This record gives sequence, structure tokens and C-alpha cells, in this order.
Amino acid sequence: MIVFLAKDKLPALLSELNEMLEVVAPVRIGNDTAFATWVGQPIDFEKNPQISPTEFLLPQREVLFKYIQHSGRYVFEEVEPKSKLILGMRPCDLNAVKVLDKIFGTEPFDKLYFRRRRSAILAVLNCSKPEETCFCSHLGAGPECIDGFDLLFTELDSGYLIESGSSVGMLILKEHSDLFQEVKSVYLAEKNERISKAKETLNSRPNLSKDKIMGALETADWESMGNNCLSCGGCTFVCPICHCFNILDLGVPDGERLRCRDSCILSGFSRMAGGVNPRKSAGERIRNWYFDKFQFIPENTGLLGCVGCGRCISVCLASMDRWSLKVPR
Ligand code: SF4
Ligand code: SF4
Repeated sequence: MIVFLAKDKLPALLSELNEMLEVVAPVRIGNDTAFATWVGQPIDFEKNPQISPTEFLLPQREVLFKYIQHSGRYVFEEVEPKSKLILGMRPCDLNAVKVLDKIFGTEPFDKLYFRRRRSAILAVLNCSKPEETCFCSHLGAGPECIDGFDLLFTELDSGYLIESGSSVGMLILKEHSDLFQEVKSVYLAEKNERISKAKETLNSRPNLSKDKIMGALETADWESMGNNCLSCGGCTFVCPICHCFNILDLGVPDGERLRCRDSCILSGFSRMAGGVNPRKSAGERIRNWYFDKFQFIPENTGLLGCVGCGRCISVCLASMDRWSLKVPR
């Protein structure tokens, strides 16, 4: 099913959806754009936020359950996440969700990840405005979304084309049909034109295909890359696929078990009891990060561990990018 929504009707649609579930969308916060709970703010589809919407599926800090001592035994209380509709996720981030689903769905199955994942409706935005650092098209992760969405938005001059990709998406379009208009052929032509332009922009950039990156990994100078890296972990915390975490129990005798995001780039991540650390130097840690994305995750899931969203490039204060890795043009 495909419908057209005029731009001035978007707040009405979101308000109606907001009555049933939490709507998360890209909104202006100060001078920047970020995914946040929508409470009537203007939507900003211009910029892909630095923090990925996968943050709402795998948050930086999450209570897994509460533990309470009761008559000498522990009782565990799980907190059910609220149902969410995540609007404006771009195709690269949807592909990142597919990778996370494989990683957390492989034994041992992570039911606490899927508790959030199953309560999330994904309303993806076809990408007609790639950022300077994006290279999704070289890795087959954008700018056009093909499958895996519940709803798919394409922004046009006067409104949005909205397609359903699941029974939930179809139900939403049917329930709010009074807000929509019929799709004209000019709208479909405008969609194709916008996506073609985005592809053209992305494909005109230096090729960062998996093979080229893998070739560069074989000859990379990890020591000098390590000397430049500040070991701040920024690249991993903005990555929609990075998913390292730590578990903390907060409170004695009663308290909460937390899952907190961690980073393999940080020096303490692989340190073991007694102080032994198999990845002591920053160079060794960067090497592990790249090989995880382009070799280990593909071996384990069949999917690449990078979708070319470019966030790690734009966040890095040390300008660690394809130039430091020396990927040939
Ligand atoms: S963001 Fe840059 S400086 Fe910071 S850890 Fe990553 S590569 Fe190193
Ligand atoms: S490695 Fe960088 S470009 Fe690739 S998905 Fe992560 S943040 Fe995006």
C-alpha cells in the first residue's frame, strides 16, 4: 500500500500515533538535530543525526531487571519497554538493525534486546540528502530502502510518499487514511529522481567497497594509526552496529542490573584479572575494530559490520578515516 501525505499533515499523523505509542523522530535540539521523543517539535529530515536511532534499541544505559530480596530469596522484576515508532531512520541504520538482529539473535539469544526490538515500529526515510562522509552505496546499504521496514517515507517537495512494508505498517496507513491523498504519477517520478540523484552523489565519491577496505587492512600501518588515535571511543559510541557492553549490578541487597555500552577501543576493555591485556596498544585495538567490522562479523552473520553511515569519520577528532587507512581510490 502506498499513500501521499501533505507536509502540513505530518504533525496530525504523529499526534494520532502518539496517542497509542511513543514516537521517536529527528528534531532540532539547539543548533543540532537528534533523535528524541516527539512532543510536537518540528521534524528535521535535513540532517542524519550523529547519534543513531539504534540508541533506542540498544541504549547507552539500560535497566535489564530489578532484584529485590524477599524472605531470604531474590525476586526479579523486568521492566517492559514502551512501544515505539521510530521515524526517520535512514536505510543505512535499518541495515545496521538487521546486523544487530543477527548478532543478538545468535545463541545465546538475547531476549532483552528483542524485548525492545519487537516493540519498535520502524518508519524508515529514503535518503535523498547524504552527508559529506556517507559511503553507504559502496557497501550496498543505501540510499534507497528495499525491505525490512514497517513504513517507508520518501520526502518530496510538497509532502511524503509513505509505503507499508509489514502488516503493522499497513494497519497504520489504513487507520489514518483520512489524512492521506491518492498517489499521483508525478510523485513517483519525483521519488525516483531524488533517489537517483542521491545515488549519483554517493557513487561519485572515492570507492570504499568491502574488497578495497579489506585490501587496505592487509597493509595498514596500525602502529602509526595507533599513535594518532586518542582512544576516546567516539567512533564506537556513534556506530549503529558497535554493540560491546558491560553488565553492572547497582545496589546491595536490592538494586538494578544494568547493561551499559562499552567500547573495544578503550584500553581497559580487554584487560583481564592480573592486568594482562591482549590489546594493550591503540594500534592493536584499531586493528581489531576494523577486522571485526569487515571479517569477524561477516563470518558470524553473513552481513558486513559497517553500513557506511560515516558517523565514525565525522566524529573523530584525530581525522582517522580512509586516508589514514590508505584505501586506494
Ligand atoms: S574517534 Fe578517532 S580518536 Fe577517538 S577512538 Fe575513534 S579513531 Fe581514535
Ligand atoms: S564503522 Fe563508521 S561508517 Fe561504518 S557503520 Fe560504524 S560508524 Fe558508520
